[in-house]
Amino acid sequence: MIHLLYTGGTLGMVRGQDGALVPAGIDGLLAGVPELRQIAACDYFTLEPPRDSVDIGPADWLAMARHIGERYAAYDGFVILHGTDTMAYTAAALSFLLDGLHKPVILTGAQLPIGEVRNDARNNLITAVELAACGHPQTAEVGIFFNDRLLRGNRAVKRSIFAFDAFDSPNCPPLARVGAGILFDPTCPLPPQPEQLTVHQGLDTGVALLKLFPGLSPALLSYLIEGPIRGLVLETFGSGNVPATGGDSDPDLVEVLTRAVAERDLLIVAVSQQWQGRVQLDAYAAGRRLLDAGVLCGHDMTSHTALVKLMFLLGQDLSPDQRRRGLTANLHGELTPP
Ligand code: ASP
Repeated sequence: MIHLLYTGGTLGMVRGQDGALVPAGIDGLLAGVPELRQIAACDYFTLEPPRDSVDIGPADWLAMARHIGERYAAYDGFVILHGTDTMAYTAAALSFLLDGLHKPVILTGAQLPIGEVRNDARNNLITAVELAACGHPQTAEVGIFFNDRLLRGNRAVKRSIFAFDAFDSPNCPPLARVGAGILFDPTCPLPPQPEQLTVHQGLDTGVALLKLFPGLSPALLSYLIEGPIRGLVLETFGSGNVPATGGDSDPDLVEVLTRAVAERDLLIVAVSQQWQGRVQLDAYAAGRRLLDAGVLCGHDMTSHTALVKLMFLLGQDLSPDQRRRGLTANLHGELTPP
C-alpha cells in the first residue's frame, strides 16, 4: 500500500483565467490516472492548501515528516507530489528529519500539468508509485524521481526549468534508471542507519547562504554575520577558495570570518560554487585561509543541502562540538567522505 502526499506544484496545477498556472485539488488529478491502481493500492492526503512549492518551507517539512512518521508502519512506501522549485530543499530536509528510514519516500513533480495533452506528469507519477512499491532496498530512502531517474534526495539539484530531465545529481550516481525496465546501478552506499525510525522535530531558520563573488565587500559580510544568524553556508570558489580581501578595504574577508567563528561561535561551512567536485580546504593556500579561520569543510554537499543540514543541526539539542562533527560527517548519504 502506497500513501500519496499531495502538496501542490505544476503536476496538479490548472490554468487560471489569465493563463497562469494555479494550484488545484488532487481529486481531478487522480481521476486522470485510473491505471495507477494497477500498479499499487494507493490512498492520498493533501497538505492543505495545495501550493506552489515556493510557498513550502521549514514548518511544512516538519509537518510532512510528522505525517509520514504517524503512518510509517501502515504503508510500504510514500510518494510526495511537490513543485520542482523547492523540491530539493524538501528532500534534503526529510532525509535529516526521518532518521532510521527504511522505506521509500519518493518526491516527484512535473514540468507540465497532468491535464495538458503533452505532459511529463503522468509518467513521473506512475513511475514514482511503481518505484515506491517495488521493494528494492535501493529505494528505501528519500529520493527524487524525475523523467527516468531516481536520485538521492539530498544530492539532487534542479538543473532546468525547461527540460523534462529537470533534476541532476552531480556528485552521486542515480539510485535507479528507468527505461523498458528498472536498473538499480551501484551507487554511493548510505552510511549505517538506525533500525528504528525517529522523526526529528526542530529546525533553526537562523541561517544564511552567501555566494562569494569577486569584489565582495568585507563590510557587507560583516553586516550579514553580525545579524541574527547562527549558521552560514559559504559558496566558495572551486575547491574552497576565498579571496584574502574583498577589494581595497580593510579588514579582509578572512578576518571577518575568523572573528565570527572565534567570538560568536558562528557555524560556517564551505561548499563549492561548482557543479561537480568537492571542497578540499588544504588544496590551495587560498583554501587554507578558511581552515585557519575555523570554517568547516562541506565536502561535496550541494549548497541547499548544506543549508538545510545547518537548520537541522542547529535545531537539535546538541553541543557546539557535536554540531561541528555532524556538519562534516556523512549522516544520510548527503556527502562523500574523503
Ligand atoms: N513553481 C512550480 C512549483 O515549484 C514549478 C513546478 O512545480 O515545476 O511549485
